[in-house]
This record gives sequence, structure tokens and C-alpha cells, in this order.
Amino acid sequence: MSNKKKETIIIGAGLVGSLLSIYLSKRGYEVKIFERRSDMRKQNMIAGRSINLALSDRGIKALEEVGLMDEIRKICIPMHGRFMHNTDGSTAYQAYGKENQYINSVSRGELNCKLMDLAEQHKVEISFNQKCEAIDWNKNELTLQDAINFNPSILKFQLLFGSDGAFSAARLTHQMQHDRFQYQQYYIDFGYKELTIPAGKNGIFLLNKNALHIWPRGNFMMIALPNIDGSFTCTLFFPFEGEFSFASLDNKEKVRSFFEKTFIDAATLMPTLEEDFFTNPTSSLVTVKCYPWIRNDKFALIGDAAHAIVPFFGQGMNCGFEDCSVLNSLIEKHLDNWSEILAEYQSLRKPDGDAIADLALNNFVEMRDKVNQPKFLLQKKIEAAFSKKYPDKWIPAYAQVTFSNHIRYSEALLNGQRQETIMQQVMAIPDIENKWQDEEIEKMILKNIKN
Ligand SMILES: Cc1cc2nc3c(=O)[nH]c(=O)nc-3n(C[C@H](O)[C@H](O)[C@H](O)COP(=O)(O)OP(=O)(O)OC[C@H]3O[C@@H](n4cnc5c(N)ncnc54)[C@H](O)[C@@H]3O)c2cc1C
Repeated sequence: MSNKKKETIIIGAGLVGSLLSIYLSKRGYEVKIFERRSDMRKQNMIAGRSINLALSDRGIKALEEVGLMDEIRKICIPMHGRFMHNTDGSTAYQAYGKENQYINSVSRGELNCKLMDLAEQHKVEISFNQKCEAIDWNKNELTLQDAINFNPSILKFQLLFGSDGAFSAARLTHQMQHDRFQYQQYYIDFGYKELTIPAGKNGIFLLNKNALHIWPRGNFMMIALPNIDGSFTCTLFFPFEGEFSFASLDNKEKVRSFFEKTFIDAATLMPTLEEDFFTNPTSSLVTVKCYPWIRNDKFALIGDAAHAIVPFFGQGMNCGFEDCSVLNSLIEKHLDNWSEILAEYQSLRKPDGDAIADLALNNFVEMRDKVNQPKFLLQKKIEAAFSKKYPDKWIPAYAQVTFSNHIRYSEALLNGQRQETIMQQVMAIPDIENKWQDEEIEKMILKNIKN
């Protein structure tokens, strides 16, 4: 017998909450979303900063499932590889994977607006300026506060989702009223700041359009992703404190001079650098792991609220979208029995959330320090060649995470660790630079895989 609950509430109309509401309404649930902010579709987004995200296969699968991907594709810019910018201004290109494998730069704001539009087309009710303040788990009541007149309201729920992001209020109230709740929060010593490379004359792209640009500088880095209007959004990942840090770049002259020395080719393309640097916020980067994510048959955390991760694998949103897709398949499997759905959702997704959190932290070192090192590039070349010859035996770790929508993150983490151990042995072979194509190397890899 169907156990379809009617009063379904989602806290947060961000990327994940909006997508989740579409899945649920397509399955016949009556969904209401309460969002703290005002309706971004009514704000002048053109005048605002353009912030973009890398959308890859896991996220695409979810958008395809709700029928939105064809429309989103129109606002995506494919990025086929990394374009490395060295300190001396020289550049090098490294493809992400095979010819047809690429990630997509997409505007966060536009994607969120389209998801909200589609949610409303599916009769989801979105209330804005409504902030989750508290949840009474015994009475199944949610307390909201109106962000404009500060009036509180109390609502009954039967099924509730917390998709209110990394600093989730839903998670906090769940935690406060849960015995032995596990919570781990880890800030890295680096913050980030968004900067801009504007479009050239007639909207032309001033850097290669179809790549993710990286300026790896050992202890820090800058990246840039293309926007549909010809501009690039740059993100500087930089220490908070120290000799070269947000704290030390404390006036416009220091910023300009630092950029001209450190990001020589980018600096000339950034006419509003000083203004952007001191106007745009410096934000922190946090990893959150917690447990449990659910309460009986009535509550679950989803997206960043369940697993906030650092952005160095470009997977936070993709992972949150995959949460929704997995949940959707479990609704089908357990015929709307929410005790079973939520229990399996947690047991499947918690290890995967933890795994992508670790993968993302590890990838920071790779991006900021290793991507332009000859030894690292050789290792990637050997792996790519082996994988091309034996695609069923070896999928590079990056591809398992980014270009797969069926390998679990937890499997990708383990496979990647095993492959890295093998590659460390290969790279330790004397004169590997000259003999990596020898048969004995191939045999060694094959033997190690078997072992
Ligand atoms: C610099 C940076 C770059 C990134 N790049 C990528 C990338 O390339 N690819 C990728 O996949 N991911 C990326 N991410 C991660 C991605 O942004 C997040 O994983 C994604 O936004 C999570 O979506 P969400 O809906 O769970 O949370 P959010 O997007 O944070 O949405 C939460 C929503 O809840 C609302 N809310 C908050 N508190 C309350 C409350 N008390 N009551 C009601 N509503 C509330 C908020 O206003 C918001 O609308 C990046 C993140 C950062 C910081």
C-alpha cells in the first residue's frame, strides 16, 4: 500500500532543494519550499557578479532525469581540459579525458532560477524570506521567521528535508536534539575570492573558451571558468595569513604588483582587479561530515547540509544532485515507504559523501601544486595510455569521479588509492621518462592490478 505523505516541506530553495522538489512533485507529492532569501529571479542578476560552477556527468544525469538538461545545455560552455598558466606567462594544455569527455561551465544563478521555474511549473510552492528557526521533532512542527517583518509562523510537516546548505539550520536543530550526533567541521587555512576577466570587444573571449584555466603556484592558485557573455570568473584560492595572503595584500598597489608578478598574463586582462579585490568578499572553505542524516521516516539532510565539501573536485552540486537521483530511485524501489527509503538513502550516501569530501581535499594539492610538474604530467600520460589500451582494467581516478554516473564516490576513492600505489611503483623505476612505453612496464601494471 502506498505510504505517500502529503505535507512535504523542503528548507532551502538552492540548487539541491529546488531539484529535489521537482523529483518529489513528479511522484505526486505536494511540496512546499521555504527559502530564507528573497526571490533571485526578481533581482537584477545582470548587474550582479557572475558566478559559475562545473557541471559534470553525475549532475547531468539528474538534470536529464527531470527533463531539464536540454535547456541547461544551452547555457553551458564545455571545458575539455585544463589550461595551465605558468609563472613566466607560458601555457600548457592537458585534456581531462577522452575526446568526448568534458565538464561544463554554467552560471549558478541561471541554473538555480531555471530549477525554481521548473519546480513552480510542477506546482511546487516556494515561499521566500522565510527562515527556518527551529524544529520540534516531537510535535513535527517547523518554526519559520519572516525575514522582512520578523513574524514567526509554525507549520506541521509529515516529511521534511533540510537542503539549507553548509551552515544548515535544519542540521543544527537536528543535532541539538539528537543523542550521540556525530559532527566534524574542518576549515582549511585558505579562503577564496572571486575576480573578473571581462569580455573583449564584441564579447570575445580573451582566453581559450573551452578550458578551465589554472594558475598553479605551489601553495596557492587561481582558476578561471568561462561565462556565456565572454567574460571569465576567476577564483583566487589563497592563504588567509602569511607572507602572501589576503592579510598581506592590504592595499591596491600591493594587489596590482602581486598579480603582475604572479599571474602575469591574467593581470593584464583584469582592469577592475583592485576594485574587485576590495569589493568582493573573502570567503572561507569548510568540510562538514555528520551522522545521522535522517530521523525515522520523517526527516533527511541533503546536499551541502549533509556533506559540505571544498570545491577542488567541482563536485559539491554534482554530489547533491546525485543525492536527489538516488533518493528518487529509492522511492521507486520502496514504494513510498519512507522508513525504508531514508534508511537506505543514508546507508548509501553517507560513505559517498565522506569519500567525495576526502577526494576534494586531496585534489587541492594536485591542482595548486602538481598539475604543472613534469613527473605528475608523465604519470598522467602513462595512466591515460594504459587506460586507452585496457579501458576495462583502468579508469583514471579523475574520470571515475567526473565522467561516471554509476561508480560510487566511495569506490572511486578506493580504486584511486589502489591505482596511485601502483603508479608510485612505476614512477620509482629509474629512467621511467624514457622507458614508460616498454612492454615490461605494461606487464608490471597488469600484474599489480591482478594482485
Ligand atoms: C567557490 C566554490 C566553487 C564551487 N564550485 C563547484 C563546482 O564547480 N561544481 C560543483 O558541483 N559544486 C561546486 N561548488 C559547490 C556548490 O556550490 C554546492 O555544493 C551547492 O551549491 C550545494 O547546493 P545546496 O542546495 O545543497 O546548498 P546551497 O546552494 O547553499 O543552497 C542552500 C539554500 O538554503 C537557503 N537557506 C540557508 N539557511 C536557511 C534557513 N535557515 N532557512 C531557509 N533557507 C535557508 C539558502 O539561502 C540557499 O538558497 C562550489 C562551491 C564553492 C564555495
